[in-house]
Amino acid sequence: KHSSPAQSEFYQAVEEVLDSLEPVLETSDRYQQESIIQRIVEPERQIMFRVPWVDDNGRIQVNKGYRIEFNSALGPYKGGLRFHPSVNASIIKFLGFEQIFKNALTGLPIGGGKGGANFNPKGRSDGEIMRFCQSFMTELYRHIGPNTDVPAGDIGVGAREIGYMFGQYKRLTGRYEGVLTGKSLLWGGSLVRKEATGYGAVYFAEYMLEARNETLKGKKCLISGAGNVAIYAMEKLYQLGAIPVSCSDSRGTIYHEKGIDLDLLKELKEVRRKSLEEYLQTHSDAQYIPVSDYPADGNAVWRLKADAAFPCATQNELSGEDAQALLANGCTVVSEGANMPSTQAAVDAFIAAKIAYGPGKAANAGGVATSQLEMAQNASMQSWTFEQVDNRLKEIMKNIFNAANDTAIEYGQPGNLVLGANIAGFKRVAEAMIEQGAV
Ligand code: NDP
Repeated sequence: KHSSPAQSEFYQAVEEVLDSLEPVLETSDRYQQESIIQRIVEPERQIMFRVPWVDDNGRIQVNKGYRIEFNSALGPYKGGLRFHPSVNASIIKFLGFEQIFKNALTGLPIGGGKGGANFNPKGRSDGEIMRFCQSFMTELYRHIGPNTDVPAGDIGVGAREIGYMFGQYKRLTGRYEGVLTGKSLLWGGSLVRKEATGYGAVYFAEYMLEARNETLKGKKCLISGAGNVAIYAMEKLYQLGAIPVSCSDSRGTIYHEKGIDLDLLKELKEVRRKSLEEYLQTHSDAQYIPVSDYPADGNAVWRLKADAAFPCATQNELSGEDAQALLANGCTVVSEGANMPSTQAAVDAFIAAKIAYGPGKAANAGGVATSQLEMAQNASMQSWTFEQVDNRLKEIMKNIFNAANDTAIEYGQPGNLVLGANIAGFKRVAEAMIEQGAV
C-alpha cells in the first residue's frame, strides 16, 4: 500500500478492490501462481496525445488527450470519454480499472477502457467544441474500431460530442461502423442508451430494496449532479412513485422539497446549458446553496434529510462526514450513479451500518451494458424497440444485483455488495485471463 501516491484516485480504486479480494486470495493461491493481480493492475496499453485546436479568436489551444486500453480478456475495450479540466492520468486510470470489473459484472463480452481530455467545454461555442472533437479524433481514430475499442460518453461528452467525433472518424477512415456508442437515434444510436445509467441505478436500488421487502415508492431521494445520469435517475424515480428533492452542479445545490421540476431541469441543462441557480427564477420556493456555503468537510447535498441517496456527479463527492449525516438523517438506501463518488470512509460507514448500498461498479453498469446492446444492434444492422432494450436493461441490472448479492453471501458477508461485486467481477476476468495464457 502507498501512503501518498501520485495517482491517488487510481490507488484508491485498486486498494478497494484488493481489500475485497482478500478472502479469495487467502483460500486459493491459484491467482497468485498466475500473477493475476500483477497483470490486472497494469494497463495493456496507455495512449497519451496532444490535442491542438483553434479557438474562436483564432488562437491555437492545446489539451492533453488520453485513452487507456486496460483489459481485453472479455472483449473489445469499452468505456467512456471524459472532457473535464480535472482529467489527468490518475483519473483516467482509476476509471479504466473500475470499468474492467463493471463490464465483467454485466455478463456481456466487453473489456475495460477509458479516455478523455483535460478540456473544459464550459463557455465554449459549438464551433470550438466541434474543432476540439475533430482534433481529438484525428489522433484517437488509429487506436479504436468496432472490434478493438469502442468509446462512449462520460462527463462533458454527450450526443453532440459523440456526433462530432463520429463524423471525423468516418471522414478519416471512410467507414460507417459502430465505433462509438451513445450516438444519435437518427444514425445508429440505441433507444434507452441516454436513459440507461440513471434508470439502471434506480433499478438497482429497487432490487436492493426488494431483497429487504421494501420499495422506492414514496421515498424522498437526494440526487447530486444535474447531467445525463442525474436527470434520468430522477425520471425513473418519479415513474416509480419516489420524490427526488435535490440536484447539484459544480457551482451549487438545489433543494426543492415538493420535488425537482424535471422538465425545467432538462431545459436548463440539456438545451440551454445553464447554471442551476436559474432554477430559482421559476421556483422561488426552492433553496439554492452555493458551493461557498458547503460544509468544510463535505457536500451540502448529503446534509439534507431524505430516505435514499443517488450520487450522480463525480468521484469523491461524498465524504465520511457526509455519510454519517445521511445515516443520522435516516437514509437507508445509497445507489451510486457516478463512479467512486463515496470516499473510502463513506463506504466503510455504509457497510458498517448495513444499509442497502450499491457501489458504482454494480449500480451504474446499466450505461455500459446498454452501450453493448447498441454495438449488438449496429453489428446486426437492427434497431430494437424501447421496451426491448429497457427489458434487457432491467434483466441485466437484476443479474448484476444477484451476482453481487450471492457472492457476498458465499463469502460470508451477506449484504456487502462492494465485496460481492468486486469478487464476482474479478473472478470472471481472472478466469478468462488464465485461459488466454501469459498475455
Ligand atoms: P454529465 O457531464 O452529463 O454531468 C455531470 C454532472 O456532475 C454535472 O451536473 C456537473 O456539473 C457535475 N459535476 C461534474 N464534475 C463535478 C465536480 N468536480 N464537482 C461538482 N459537480 C461536478 O456527466 P454524466 O452524468 O454522464 O456523469 C456523471 C457521473 O456518472 C460520472 O462519475 C460518470 O463517470 C458516471 N457514469 C456515467 C455514465 C454515462 O453513461 N454517462 C455511465 C456510468 C457512470 P457542471 O455541469 O456544473 O460541471
